[in-house]
Amino acid sequence: MTHHKQHTIGQSVWCSGVGLHSGLKISMVLKPAPADHGIRFRRTDLTGNPTINAHYNNVIDTFQATTIGSSNVAVSTVEHLMAALYGCGIDNALVELNGPEAPIFDGSAAPYVKLIQRGSIVEQNQARRYLTIREPVVVREGDSSIIATPSDQFQVHYEIEFPHPRVGKQEYSWELTNSSFSMEIAKARTFGFLKDVLRLQEMGLIRGGSLSNAVVFDDKEVLNVHGFRYSDECVRHKILDFIGDLALTGLPVLGKFEIRKAGHTLHSRFLAKLMDAKCHTDQMPLTIPPPYISSELFAIA
Ligand SMILES: [Zn+2]
Repeated sequence: MTHHKQHTIGQSVWCSGVGLHSGLKISMVLKPAPADHGIRFRRTDLTGNPTINAHYNNVIDTFQATTIGSSNVAVSTVEHLMAALYGCGIDNALVELNGPEAPIFDGSAAPYVKLIQRGSIVEQNQARRYLTIREPVVVREGDSSIIATPSDQFQVHYEIEFPHPRVGKQEYSWELTNSSFSMEIAKARTFGFLKDVLRLQEMGLIRGGSLSNAVVFDDKEVLNVHGFRYSDECVRHKILDFIGDLALTGLPVLGKFEIRKAGHTLHSRFLAKLMDAKCHTDQMPLTIPPPYISSELFAIA
């Protein structure tokens, strides 16, 4: 396998799980797709089975999750699946869903990585194009910011700060290598605060939310019996979300990203700026891109 070629799933794989916001039980089939197809979602429960490209231009909502949609189709909570596809080096796939959102599983990307492994990763004939940062791209809002600078690697440094005794200030530096997504990021779960739960449920959100698909905090403690998977699980999950949102560029990205206290909304604003033609190029980089996927199984640690 060579990392400069495009990749897809070897065979269709099926799974089902609850949607975090809808609370519905949803079936999902991940299917192989030809080169240059990209990632597309198909709603099999809607008349005509409409499809939508997983593309930043199609983002229609970023409150609590990333939703893509157009006039006749919408798919919500795509970010963890998008991160898993990106982290495993899948360029092309068709994702069929019989409901309005991707299943949440345990709130992390690990179940999706396992699903991709089950379908296997196969090389295609077409070369990959990379999106390379050409000049710094900066977005700010209050004390939140995202700064992208050129790099011949894909590197993310994320910093968060929550006034909670079990979170506080956390930072994490990550770089994409063969198994770094599955080893360091995939298992980190989404998190939330008990004080927000009722408010969000009244808004019709997180109907499928539970301690089995999120880390939940009360005023002082973690409510999950087994606590954290990593002491810095929250900031790792923020990196997971960022990767999932950045995957909506439709291309593997080379650049260094320094992010502070952002979320889906700022990620989305950043993408719009990044995709301005003078900020990036999608030509083949002069230096050979870093290793991107491995034929070895992705160990989840
Ligand atoms: Zn998330």
